[in-house]
Amino acid sequence: MRPDMVLLHYTGMVVAAVALDRLCAPGSEVSAHYLVLEDGRVIQMVPESRRAWHAGVSFWAGETDINSCSIGIEIANSGHDFGYPDFPKRQIAAVTALCRGIQTRNTIRPERVLAHSDVAPSRKQDPGEKFPWRTLWDSGVGHWVPAAPIAEGGKMLTLGDRGDAVSSLQDLLSQYGYGITISGNYDSVTHDVVKAFQRHFRPQRVDGMVDESTRATLQDLLAHRGRVRTMAARARDFARLAS
Ligand SMILES: [Zn+2]
Repeated sequence: MRPDMVLLHYTGMVVAAVALDRLCAPGSEVSAHYLVLEDGRVIQMVPESRRAWHAGVSFWAGETDINSCSIGIEIANSGHDFGYPDFPKRQIAAVTALCRGIQTRNTIRPERVLAHSDVAPSRKQDPGEKFPWRTLWDSGVGHWVPAAPIAEGGKMLTLGDRGDAVSSLQDLLSQYGYGITISGNYDSVTHDVVKAFQRHFRPQRVDGMVDESTRATLQDLLAHRGRVRTMAARARDFARLAS
């Protein structure tokens, strides 16, 4: 299959060199197309035309064989189990440039530049809530809208809730691409999917509960699906900042 998705990961290892060894060891049964080091160096390990093993059991928008349709980028970061440091600016600049190149060489819609946690929400949390999706969006990579502000109080949906409000939320998440059953039950999978959504799109609070901010951000994303940030829009923003 021609790749039509980019999947971003963190390595989850303290030393990038160990992660590199693991990605190159035949016995590890894990590989990726690229590794981006903290200092911005990029190592290609698998050609874009070949399949790499980075997604595992996963789902997005009806597709379960994510390895066959995606390009995997491992970003060196020790991850949630080892202190979860910020991503250095140089590293993010390199990831952004790499993604732009991949988008040029392949046809990849903005909303198909995704986190590993988006396609495997119950198993994975990488690259996590510190990953600056907004910075990538500003350079024309991926899909992003400003998160709706968080208001204290107000109705929330959470684990164990049932009813139409849960169904309609599950429906919206499923429309965006998440692997979720529209059951009306706020089950553990729903909780995991909401957390994955928040890590990517509402990182200010990742708690697996649906507040008005989470719902409004999701609706805004759906309304703007397919929108590409144009050079004209970026120029307008720049002009506004400069004035
Ligand atoms: Zn991953």
